[in-house]
Amino acid sequence: MMLSPRLAEGQQIPLIHEVHSDDEHLLNTIDGEWFEILLYFSWEEYRSFAADYYNALYDFNQLPPRSTTAQDDVNPETKEEARQRLLLDRATAPRPTNPPAPILYQGEVVELKAQDVQPSGVAPGVVPLRLVGRKPKCFFGLLKSFIGVSLMGFPAEPEQVHLLLKSNPAFARVCGFSHKKKDRAKYHYQQVPSLRKLEQFDQIMTDAGIWDRIKLSEVTTNLVSGVIRPEKEWVGDTTHYHAYSSFETVRYEDDKGKEQKKSQSKLTKTCRCEDWHACPHAWELRDEGAGTIVKSGKKMIWGHKASIIGLPKQGIALDAVAISDAATHDGQTFFPHVEKVLKEHPNLAQSVQRVLYDSACDDAPLKQLFQDKLGIELKASFNPRRSKAITETLPRGIEKITPYGVPICLAGHEFDYQGIRYASEKFIYRAPQQDDGLSVCMGCGEKPQCCNRSSELGRTITVSFDTLKHIDPSDPPMAKRFKAIMTRRPSVERMIKRLKCDLGDDRLSKRGNDSFQAYLDKTMISYHLLIRHLH
Ligand SMILES: [Zn+2]
Repeated sequence: MMLSPRLAEGQQIPLIHEVHSDDEHLLNTIDGEWFEILLYFSWEEYRSFAADYYNALYDFNQLPPRSTTAQDDVNPETKEEARQRLLLDRATAPRPTNPPAPILYQGEVVELKAQDVQPSGVAPGVVPLRLVGRKPKCFFGLLKSFIGVSLMGFPAEPEQVHLLLKSNPAFARVCGFSHKKKDRAKYHYQQVPSLRKLEQFDQIMTDAGIWDRIKLSEVTTNLVSGVIRPEKEWVGDTTHYHAYSSFETVRYEDDKGKEQKKSQSKLTKTCRCEDWHACPHAWELRDEGAGTIVKSGKKMIWGHKASIIGLPKQGIALDAVAISDAATHDGQTFFPHVEKVLKEHPNLAQSVQRVLYDSACDDAPLKQLFQDKLGIELKASFNPRRSKAITETLPRGIEKITPYGVPICLAGHEFDYQGIRYASEKFIYRAPQQDDGLSVCMGCGEKPQCCNRSSELGRTITVSFDTLKHIDPSDPPMAKRFKAIMTRRPSVERMIKRLKCDLGDDRLSKRGNDSFQAYLDKTMISYHLLIRHLH
C-alpha cells in the first residue's frame, strides 16, 4: 500500500491507492493500452462530472412513480394518424416544416435540481453523504469501466461492461471493483455492479448530458495541451450504424395527391397499459432517428447515421454527431456540423480555412453558404451530374471526353490536363508521355486521322468551356492542385474505421438517437484518451 501520487491538494480524507504487485506485471503483459490508461487515470479532472452525476442520481432517486392517467381519458389519435404525424415531423418529411426540423440530433438535457454535491467532495471511493441508504457505486469506477470496454475494442454498452467486469478480474480491480467475497454482506458498493446498475448509470449520464460534456472536455484538453494541433483544413463524412430495430412502410400522399412510400420506424408507447389502441398515451417512434440509408450500388441499410469531422493531416476526429433522421442526404449534414464544431471550439475558427467532403457536397449554393456564413472554402470531390461521355464537337483524333473532363483519343490514351487559355475560354490538354519521356503520339497508328503535323511534344488540344459546360473553369477537377487537395479527404475513412471497428461495433444494441449519440460520445472519449496516451 502507498499513497497515491495523484492525490489532490486539500483532499481531507487521505486516499489509499492500492498497488498490487500484479499491476506491474500486468502493465508488461497485457496486450493493448487499456490497462495503463485505466491504472493512471487522472480522476481529478473528472470531479465536476462526478458531482453532476451524483446530483443527477439524487434527482433520479427522488422521482415520483410515473403518474397514471385517469381511466376516462382518451387519445383521439389512431395509430395510422400517429404514423402520418411522425412522418411529417421528420427532417426528411415530404413537406418542409416551419420551423424546419433540425438536421443534427439535439439532446434534451434533463436539468439538475440537486446542487448539493460539490466537485471537491468526491473522489474515487468517496461517495457523497447526501445519498443516504445504500452507498452508491463509485462514479470513477463506473466511468472507467465504460471507457475500458471501448479501449478493449468492444461497444461501451452496459451488457458488454457487465460481461467484462465479471469475467476479467484485472479489469474489475483497475476500475476499483472487487468480486464478491464469501464473508461479505449481500450488497457492498465496491462489488462489481449489477447489469441494472450499469444500465442506470449509462441512462443518467445520457439524460443529464454528461457523456457529451466529457467528450467535449477530452477534445478540448487535447487541443489545449497540444496533443492535437490545429490544421487549416478539416475533413468530413458520414457513416452508418446498423439499427437495433425494424421498419414499416408508411404510405402518404404527396403534393400532387399521388401515393408515395417511405420507410419509418415501427411505433410504440412508453406506458404499460394493456390496450395500447384504447389507452390515452401518444404513439412514438420505436427507434427515433433510424432511417433508410442508400449506399453505393443502391444498397439500402436500415440504420442510424453519424457525421464525423476531423483533421486530415493528423488523422484525428474532432467530433461525431448523430443525424436527426438517418435518411437525410449527406449534402445537408456537413454545414450544420461544421457550425457546431466551430461553436464548441471557437479557437479553431482562426486556423480553419478549407473543408473537404465527397461529391455529396459538390454544390455551388452550398459552397457559397460556407464562404458567406463561415468564411471557409468548401472543396468537394467532383460530381459530374451526367453519366455519359461527351462525343460531339470534339477535336480531331479525340474519341470522347469523360464526364470528369478527361479526353480519350482514338488510340485509347487519356490526355493530360495542362491549364486554361482564358482569352479564348478553352481548356488545354496534351497527349501523355511514355516511360521513356517520349510522347505516345510518336509512332502512333492513328497519326493520319489525328496529328500528322505535331511535334515531338505530341498532340496538344484545346476544348471550349462550352463543350464542358458542367465543369467550373474557376475550379476544374482535372487540375493537379484540385487532385492534390482531395488526396487528403480519404483520411476521414480511417478515423471512421477507428471509431466504428477498433473502439466498438457498427451494430447498435439500443434504440433511439439519445442512445446513439451517447454511444458516439463514449467512443469519442476513449478515442481521445487513447490519442493522449499514445502522444
Ligand atoms: Zn397507455
